[in-house]
Amino acid sequence: PATPVTIIGLGAMGTALADAFLAAGHPTTVWNRSPGRVEALVARGARRANSAADAVAAGPLVIACVLDYPALHEILDASVTEALRGRTLVNLTNGIPGQARATADWAREHGIEYLDGGIMAIPPTVATPGAFFLYSGPDEVLDAHRATLEVLGEVHHLGTDPGLAALQDLALLTGMYGMFAGILQAFALVDSEGIPTKSFAPMLRRWLTDMAISVDLFAQRIDADDHDTGVMNTLAMQTTGVANLAQAGREQGVDVELLAPLYALMQRRVADGHGQGDVAGLFELIRRPRVAG
Ligand code: NDP
Repeated sequence: PATPVTIIGLGAMGTALADAFLAAGHPTTVWNRSPGRVEALVARGARRANSAADAVAAGPLVIACVLDYPALHEILDASVTEALRGRTLVNLTNGIPGQARATADWAREHGIEYLDGGIMAIPPTVATPGAFFLYSGPDEVLDAHRATLEVLGEVHHLGTDPGLAALQDLALLTGMYGMFAGILQAFALVDSEGIPTKSFAPMLRRWLTDMAISVDLFAQRIDADDHDTGVMNTLAMQTTGVANLAQAGREQGVDVELLAPLYALMQRRVADGHGQGDVAGLFELIRRPRVAG
């Protein structure tokens, strides 16, 4: 029989997680701070719990997905903590590595098995082939619940250090927000001439899809620690190009604030003597400095 699952937190994402387990035939108990969110799920077959402690006591596996860690720790009061003893808490709340590690320490002190996780999906893509989930924590805890967690999406176990799922989740989101910034800046530029974003969108999508190869090309250059040989599109050329983005934006009456820090970084790298190098060399200015020796 399918493992009973408890979902704590029924926002847009927690609701999608609960629906995925219901669809897969798992007995699913739900709890949310505001009781209003529970009704629709109960109508779809979920079990109502009267308190977070009751919800936790319903089964071996508890999945928490609330706004942030302070919200999580508000929920995890003494009675909930006691009810969690001997069970597994999988925390899919977005946070930083330090919060994940501190929560793992807290769980260990209270006899709670703990996995920290990150959701690489949006509510409608949960439990579809596009969804993947990052987890970190003990191998045996992940292995015990792997089949159940696979209901939600592909399981990626990133190691036993509980902070590593959060770190890599945030790294993926960092890439995404850089892309969001670029998309919005591009739309603002075409909009300044009255071009509908909808008509420009297919071309932008095509260009970004083609340029996604940069992920692998940059990774190769960074891993080879070589930014100055065999460069086809020099940083100096690209810095001149980025100056044009900003100037065109200004002349079109568009806010160019988002471009300024990138341009400043490029200029610094050129001033350091790497104008004939590659754009991936900007990594050297961003990274945590290597300690010599
Ligand atoms: P919502 O804003 O839709 O829901 C927030 C949830 O947190 C609600 O259940 C809310 O309860 C609860 N909450 C907030 N503050 C408290 C508190 N102080 N005490 C108790 N409960 C609290 O957010 P989402 O469901 O979209 O996101 C939840 C998590 O999932 C976040 O960490 C988010 O980063 C992550 N995530 C979301 C994605 C998405 O596309 N939505 C994608 C990937 C990750 P109440 O109903 O009572 O307000």
